[in-house]
Amino acid sequence: MFADWHYKEFIIRQYLLHIYKEYRPFVFGAVFFISGLALGLSNLLFMSSKPVMPEQSSIAAENSSTENAENSSMPDDTVPIETVINNMPGDEPMSLEETKALTEPSENELISKEIRIKRGQGLMEALVDSGVDRQDAFNAIRTLGDLFNVRKIQVGQKFDVTYKPDGTLNRIEMQKDFDHIIVVNRDGLSYKGETEDLPSQIITRHASGIIDDSLFLAAQKQGLPQVVIVDLIRIFSYDVDFQREIRQGDQFEIFYERKISEDGRRVQEGDIIFARMVLSGKEIKLYRYTPPGKDFADYFHEDGQSSKRALMKTPIEGARLSSYYGNRKHPVLGYNRMHKGIDFSAPTGTPIMAAGDGVVERASWFGSFGNYVRIRHNSTYKTIYAHMSKYGRGIKKGVRVKQGQIIGYVGATGRVTGRHLHYEVYMNGTQVNPLTLKIPSGIKLKENELDDFKLAMKDTDLMIAQTKSHILLTHNTPNTPAAINSSP
Ligand SMILES: [Zn+2]
Repeated sequence: MFADWHYKEFIIRQYLLHIYKEYRPFVFGAVFFISGLALGLSNLLFMSSKPVMPEQSSIAAENSSTENAENSSMPDDTVPIETVINNMPGDEPMSLEETKALTEPSENELISKEIRIKRGQGLMEALVDSGVDRQDAFNAIRTLGDLFNVRKIQVGQKFDVTYKPDGTLNRIEMQKDFDHIIVVNRDGLSYKGETEDLPSQIITRHASGIIDDSLFLAAQKQGLPQVVIVDLIRIFSYDVDFQREIRQGDQFEIFYERKISEDGRRVQEGDIIFARMVLSGKEIKLYRYTPPGKDFADYFHEDGQSSKRALMKTPIEGARLSSYYGNRKHPVLGYNRMHKGIDFSAPTGTPIMAAGDGVVERASWFGSFGNYVRIRHNSTYKTIYAHMSKYGRGIKKGVRVKQGQIIGYVGATGRVTGRHLHYEVYMNGTQVNPLTLKIPSGIKLKENELDDFKLAMKDTDLMIAQTKSHILLTHNTPNTPAAINSSP
């Protein structure tokens, strides 16, 4: 996702602010500050790649399909490190040797052990250190390598290993990802591996809150995990400038999925299904929806407009591209300099449109640019329009504009040789080439798609209403079984 770094930077800043406010009065403020920073950074580093263990959250509510899922505080993650399993030989009557095998340690005894990869250690060393035969370890790892890139094994990765006291390796099992395990079993003298599906279930969670400082802190207060908050900020980033547009009293609401493994020991945060923000009284709703025939879901406003909107590459109609982005001989100054925008040649008075929704930052004379407009689209993108003959109706600093709205007209003001529009796109403070800019393109659902989306929207609204009534029910009548109003 573009500008992901930006959210991370943003979140770190919010963390620092939060920690600063919290611990300012304390003598040990500095200590908390530094440890908080370290914690924040490490959380950020790990949150995107690892399944998140559930926090003991006070999240507003949950809608779950089983009692097991309702209890989101998972058992402690301590596993008996070593257990000895006797190799029981089926239902057949035991021979004398077999009876003996159960009472004395022998070659039939199997050791089951959980090993964790330590720093600087490979799986090979970890196995051999545990007492596994080197050749067996080598062969099993080679089999494992067919199903998983063993070079990607990380410190702390767990393996369940079963072997005999003489080092004969019988089985290795590892978690591949949330929904899969890889099992390597001994098969004669070699090994056979396979990937197995792990059953899991999805529950939905709902949370809402009022913003005091920032969306991040408000969401955190409601027990939302960081991965979900980051996702929330990401999906709204096309509509909201989180640096500037958040006011005290603004609201958020979120409805999202959480995956829980069948044994209830692991959770993974899933997709946001619906989210809503109220900013200075203005409501923005986003629904997750996959248009028919499309492989990927997107977020849409109620009117079927996707939240991802491209900036228009040519904010003017019927114009000819007269100068490209890049190094060129300046037509007025005469020497080579970087042209940090693109020029469109068009008759004076041709309307110029806002390349995207945003807020006008400047609409006034700006040196060699002449009559100039700058629009801030979100915290990442700005666009500028120069040499205009006049401004569009009502275009002045602070005004909110829609994509396609007329903000001015082509002219020849400032340092120019002839009438044209000079157009620049700023991404995180520097000019980029508008023609090669890779901004996800926006979609507007139409006809059948729009009808289908509206049905999906109704379903989502209904699910949320059910979840909310379920919350009320369980909160008002403590004796009611929690799962009474659950939905699959
Ligand atoms: Zn230019």
